[in-house]
Amino acid sequence: MNVSGRAKGQKKIGIMGGTFDPIHFGHLLAAEESRTVLELDEVIFIPAGDPAHKRERKTASPEDRYVMTLLTTLGNPKFTPSRIEIDRKEPSHTVDTLREMRHWYAPEKVTFFFITGLDAVLGITSWKEYEALPGLCRMVAVNRPGYSPRKLENLPAEIRQAIIPLEIPLLSISSTEIRQRIEERRSIKYLLPEAVEQYIYKKELYRKKLEV
Ligand code: NAP
Repeated sequence: MNVSGRAKGQKKIGIMGGTFDPIHFGHLLAAEESRTVLELDEVIFIPAGDPAHKRERKTASPEDRYVMTLLTTLGNPKFTPSRIEIDRKEPSHTVDTLREMRHWYAPEKVTFFFITGLDAVLGITSWKEYEALPGLCRMVAVNRPGYSPRKLENLPAEIRQAIIPLEIPLLSISSTEIRQRIEERRSIKYLLPEAVEQYIYKKELYRKKLEV
């Protein structure tokens, strides 16, 4: 064991899961806070390819969300974007992603920490094979405005034990708010990296088509 209480050769890897539609500074802050608090070796950002649970809303294309994730993570050597869900032809399910990732690493040498929003974690019992998740990872539930971590108590005990609630101050930026601002032609400056802002404008993402 070393000073951080970790056995020699063991890795701790964060997996940031989200639609990232678009990715913003709140996500970066959540990833960096998780990395430092949980002493993670790296954080892999996985934009959901075809969010199985989100067919009712049109999202930016998987490729656009991947490019925005790539642009956002460029500046941090501990952050890596992954195409694992983008390239999968079937709908994205976290359990499949985690199982696939365990093939890349020796499972006995790595602990995965799946990081996502508290509101998403509160709905975990609707996810595919959710009972298998505690055997594959720890879940990090990042606070979201309007959602109390006390609600985690309503989840089954086996799942609850695998969840680490993470409080991040001032995290009230949301992708929904950013999409709305773009639709209303309001500024999105300082909510996300400038390169992502430029990409959104260049590709005309999230803009309502003007009536002719
Ligand atoms: P989402 O709409 O992108 O996010 C849900 C909430 O969490 C939003 O408030 C979001 O804020 C926030 N959030 C998203 N990613 C975050 C992150 N990494 N760190 C901190 N906050 C984050 O997410 P979703 O589509 O519901 O799903 C989140 C993750 O859970 C994805 O990886 C998804 O594949 C997985 N999931 C899996 C299943 C399944 O296996 N069947 C079902 C549902 C969800 P913003 O809107 O600002 O991003």
